[in-house]
Amino acid sequence: MNTSAQQALTLAFIGGGNMATALASGLIGKRCGAHDVLVIDPHEDTRRRWEQQGTQSAAQAGEQLAGQRIWVFAVKPQVMKDVVAACRPFLTPDTLIVSVAAGIPGSAISGWLGGHKRIVRCMPNTPALIGAGASGLFALDDVSDEDRGVVQQLLKATGEITWVDSDEQIDAVTGLSGSGPAYVFYFLEALIDGGIAMGLSPEKSRMLALATLRGATELAAMSPEPPSVLRDRVTSKGGTTAAALGVLETGKVAATVKQAMEAARVRAGELA
Ligand code: NAD
Repeated sequence: MNTSAQQALTLAFIGGGNMATALASGLIGKRCGAHDVLVIDPHEDTRRRWEQQGTQSAAQAGEQLAGQRIWVFAVKPQVMKDVVAACRPFLTPDTLIVSVAAGIPGSAISGWLGGHKRIVRCMPNTPALIGAGASGLFALDDVSDEDRGVVQQLLKATGEITWVDSDEQIDAVTGLSGSGPAYVFYFLEALIDGGIAMGLSPEKSRMLALATLRGATELAAMSPEPPSVLRDRVTSKGGTTAAALGVLETGKVAATVKQAMEAARVRAGELA
């Protein structure tokens, strides 16, 4: 049966790079067929890669866009204004816009689209590639409950989602989970390098570091206790963990992490 909910899942990715790929990998075959997806990207190699998965593609915005119910803007923030303007002639009142561009307020996109307010701003992250992403979503005024449901269905396939109340909060999501995978990779690199420096082989160090991060985060996710209590439980007075945490405290690592997140949030605001 061809219900309206199924029809609603025709979508266009405008920009077919890393983030579009991460989102699509959670969607195609789960929430929509490849043939329901149109990718607009000026790079031939990128279009070919998508076509190999069975999607439609085009080098620039054209009539095909009008037939796609959802448009996902996944281009760099710096080119958003021009790209949105190129798509505007094909906008219909039914078009639901989803933007993943960091730092571009929903109100700016609405202005570039002549006041269209059926817009959801979304801040995903790259673990969406394996269905383990985290996305913050903010809806402008004309987004209906049904639209929210469709966006939620689409993004649920990529991992966890949460709705926030403002564009400013989306910038905070950018500082936490949007850029967050890079902070974790940085810490992971440091753990692996530290293991090697203490004499472990690179393979063993990598395995132990990955398993420690995975195990600790899964334990924290499953536990009713806050992370501070879990940390206290592995920290005996005068023991090895206490010695290590003392060094982290002296290095003001927690404060530095907060500063890093704030720098990402502020930078997001500057990209508009
Ligand atoms: P990317 O460079 O991998 O992809 C951008 C794509 O846009 C490229 O394929 C490029 O060819 C295409 N493009 C350029 N000009 C175009 C045009 N005129 N029309 C259509 N397509 C055009 O970048 P990305 O990492 O996928 O980032 C895309 C957006 O996602 C950014 O706005 C970024 O802020 C946001 N984002 C990225 C991440 C991340 O972790 N990568 C996380 C959250 C949000």
